[in-house]
Amino acid sequence: MSDAVRAAVQTGPRKIELREFPRPKIGADDGLLRVEANGICGSDVETYKGHMGGGRSDAFIPGHEPMGIIEEIGDRAAERWGVQPGDRVALEVIVPCRACENCLTGRYQACRNRTIGHGVTGIGTEPSLYGGFAEHLYLTPNAVLHKIDNTIPAEVAVMFNPLGAGVRWAAHLGGIGLGDTVVVLGAGQRGIASVIAAKAAGAGTVITTGLAADAHKLALAREFGADHTIVVGEDGEDVVERVREITDGKMADVVLELTPMAAGPVTDALLAARHGGTVVLAGLKGGRQIPLSTDLIINRALVVKGAFGVDFAGQEAAIALIESGRFPLEKLHTHTFGLDDTALAIETLAGEVPGESPVHVSVHPNLHA
Ligand SMILES: [Zn+2]
Ligand SMILES: [Zn+2]
Repeated sequence: MSDAVRAAVQTGPRKIELREFPRPKIGADDGLLRVEANGICGSDVETYKGHMGGGRSDAFIPGHEPMGIIEEIGDRAAERWGVQPGDRVALEVIVPCRACENCLTGRYQACRNRTIGHGVTGIGTEPSLYGGFAEHLYLTPNAVLHKIDNTIPAEVAVMFNPLGAGVRWAAHLGGIGLGDTVVVLGAGQRGIASVIAAKAAGAGTVITTGLAADAHKLALAREFGADHTIVVGEDGEDVVERVREITDGKMADVVLELTPMAAGPVTDALLAARHGGTVVLAGLKGGRQIPLSTDLIINRALVVKGAFGVDFAGQEAAIALIESGRFPLEKLHTHTFGLDDTALAIETLAGEVPGESPVHVSVHPNLHA
């Protein structure tokens, strides 16, 4: 058992270097995870480029979708989390205080006492190992864990995070019912995950949009149950008109807006929903002000919800969906990288590597260990 833990440290925009940290000593209340896999999403790309985290200057270990095997665990921690060495667990980003009013009423994402975030906390906070792009991750006493079946391939099990978003946004916030018509704007991994969750929740017709460059993603969306795909962008189709045609003018019961940065799709989302329909907004626009006619919301009596991350219930339901084997999730996984190639993994998801068509990309820090 080596005393050193290798980790990928981001020291600035587009700067990731491998460093070694001392293996933390584990007491009664904490533990150590051997990281099997850590998924990469669009926010990793933005952070890598320096667009998020306020252009932070301190070094940190990125990786906020970690999953692995419990290697060491204190007695009290084992009891509290209900886990043993050898168990596979997925971690949530947020480490809440578990004691404030928000935490006690289930709104732990709004906890104001939290100081630690996986893939967020800087290496200056001991014992530094808070990110998933490392051989080991320190399990701090208040971490939120979810058990996952050890027999599922790691690259599939680690989809707990995007699939959790799909469940939370489409099924839980969207409130999709049997036979509902659902429009998903955006065909990234979370868009496809939303299609899966919509189908699992009983949606009737599912319509997905994507750019011409996303043809491979739209094909996957169809494979996972999308009934119609609309190509948007320059020379693309008019989303609202296409939804009108497909639904015979009834429009959609639920619309999910998941596109990054673009403003237009927000208005499309409002226009594609039926009177009294629900619109879930999850596509961050990088802090930009975007033009929006609030009359549309009033006149159509829309319910508009903001989707912030995933919650415990969404995560548990997503893991149940993965464990059910109902969907061929392995088809979403396109790239596996070792720890030394963390930067390349992020650049691959970002679409910066010519010839690659990424959908789900993950880093497996102990791949060659
Ligand atoms: Zn993510
Ligand atoms: Zn709290």
